[in-house]
Amino acid sequence: MSRGRLIIAIVIAAIALIGYFAKQEYNPITGEKQHIGITPEQEIALGLQAAPEMEQQYGGLSPDSQSQALVDKVGQRIVSSTKAKETPYKFEFHLLDDDNVLNAFALPGGQVFITSGLLKKLQTEGQLAGVLGHEMGHVVARHGAEHIAKTQLTQGLTGAAVIATYDPNNPNSRYSAAVAALIGQLVSLRFSREDELQADKLGVRFTGESGYDPHAMIGVMEILDAASKGQGRQPEFFSTHPNPDHRIERIQEAIKEIYPQGVPEGLTP
Ligand code: ZN
Repeated sequence: MSRGRLIIAIVIAAIALIGYFAKQEYNPITGEKQHIGITPEQEIALGLQAAPEMEQQYGGLSPDSQSQALVDKVGQRIVSSTKAKETPYKFEFHLLDDDNVLNAFALPGGQVFITSGLLKKLQTEGQLAGVLGHEMGHVVARHGAEHIAKTQLTQGLTGAAVIATYDPNNPNSRYSAAVAALIGQLVSLRFSREDELQADKLGVRFTGESGYDPHAMIGVMEILDAASKGQGRQPEFFSTHPNPDHRIERIQEAIKEIYPQGVPEGLTP
């Protein structure tokens, strides 16, 4: 990094630190105020840059075009029937060719992934909607961007350097070490327990609004729980998405809160 760049980065780091505390953004989907340091356009660009690395870590994209089409169909049904379509995010749903790992992921900006291992365990379309709805919840709640803002706060200079050197219109910027570090961080990002519960709640909302029975999300938790017992080890989904029992309870609470009269008739299971 040149001396000039470094000075710019330091200035931006200072601005980032002040900005973290001074800047609050209202999120119309969650109704919360958040500390966010980047724009939705930057979230989308970073997610697109990180996507190939995510694919590489989990066996690449699945060659099973029929299953990929199902993932697209369910994902797009959720996008088109919920507030997700009013957000700036560009949702894309990718089936990863990894049968050994049971997991799903979301990158900032709308890149959503599910492993073939997890998809094969799911028994209904509603369960797939539950998984994708949960991941979309992370995107619209901007959990990745919040994480970046916290990184800027704790590692101000690195975070600022990423923002200072990152230009989505300049392909050379992708080779910046700082961007590479950020992408590595996004790919291996562990959301907090709080984030997971919020994503579950948004998943309940999104599945219900798109005509799927949100109880299917409980089925997902049970399937993963059973898989962990059978294998004698925890599926990946639990290490990044912890506490199945507690989460089932919270999902049930969320369903009751959103549907006090019970869920409507005729939802897709
Ligand atoms: Zn999650």
